[in-house]
Amino acid sequence: MPITPTKKIWMDGTLVDWDDAKVHVLTHTLHYGSGVFEGIRAYPTDRGAAVFRLREHMVRLHQSASMLLIDVPFTVDELCDATLDVIRESGLDSCYVRPLVFLGYGEMGLNPLPCPVNVAIACWPWGAYLGDEGKQHGVRMQVSSWRRMDPNINPSAAKGVGIYVNSQLAKVEAVKAGYDEAIMLNTHGFVAECTGENIYIVRNGDIITPPLAAGALDGITRDAIRTIAKDQGISFREENILRSDLYIADEAFLSGTAAEVVPVRSVDDRVIGEPGPITKMIQETYEGAVRGQVDQYKDWLTYVE
Ligand code: PMP
Repeated sequence: MPITPTKKIWMDGTLVDWDDAKVHVLTHTLHYGSGVFEGIRAYPTDRGAAVFRLREHMVRLHQSASMLLIDVPFTVDELCDATLDVIRESGLDSCYVRPLVFLGYGEMGLNPLPCPVNVAIACWPWGAYLGDEGKQHGVRMQVSSWRRMDPNINPSAAKGVGIYVNSQLAKVEAVKAGYDEAIMLNTHGFVAECTGENIYIVRNGDIITPPLAAGALDGITRDAIRTIAKDQGISFREENILRSDLYIADEAFLSGTAAEVVPVRSVDDRVIGEPGPITKMIQETYEGAVRGQVDQYKDWLTYVE
């Protein structure tokens, strides 16, 4: 999806013009992939733009960095403030925010420890990641031939830059075959997640999602969905899911900051159909919560003001 430039990008403590936010070609992360990132969204509310679960995202950024032994030179609070500055500067009331921690210029070789650590935060307007049609009528999924990496090959709990090569292989395979998105199995053959989303099935009225130990990222949207489900009296459990469980699910859906809540229409051409009642309820409640329309979830928002 194309990026629409905004005015400023926050780089290492200062706001620089969009076109000046550049790095050297010998930037370490460009060569070896050992950076970490986040994906965050801000939404319009009756008090202007608000960021959904900002602090949780920045805590996860710090945790991802710590898994890769990267010392982030800014605290969680400083990164939260920087995010609000970037959004304020953009004048947008709805945007996607991309914080990136990367190893900079000055060192080469596979030991990253002596490298300088740089941090950038950009924002821009971004529509529905898997398309408006997909959000309304569901997406067509393909189980990938690429496996989610075992956590002892790469920590699947970290949003690490290079770790996403695995996701890209699966995404390209699915898109080239005419599907919207890929589902990735782990090395034991259980469903892990999608290339940039968690996955859920609905069976007999219960929501089931793979456990983190299956290789799923600890999604912040996933946590919101767990809360919404519990508040609605719907059972939400973590359980290993087989490929065949997907085929015969009553309903299925995906979640992620970029994608939001997206129904699954089919998996490997086995039709699940139009969005079912539980998927619709979760989607509608989530869409209301992010816009500050659900009182009990207002503390999920940080107002830009
Ligand atoms: N899994 C992967 C691999 C992801 O990249 C994402 C997006 N961050 C998710 C799941 C969903 O996480 P979240 O809801 O926190 O955006």
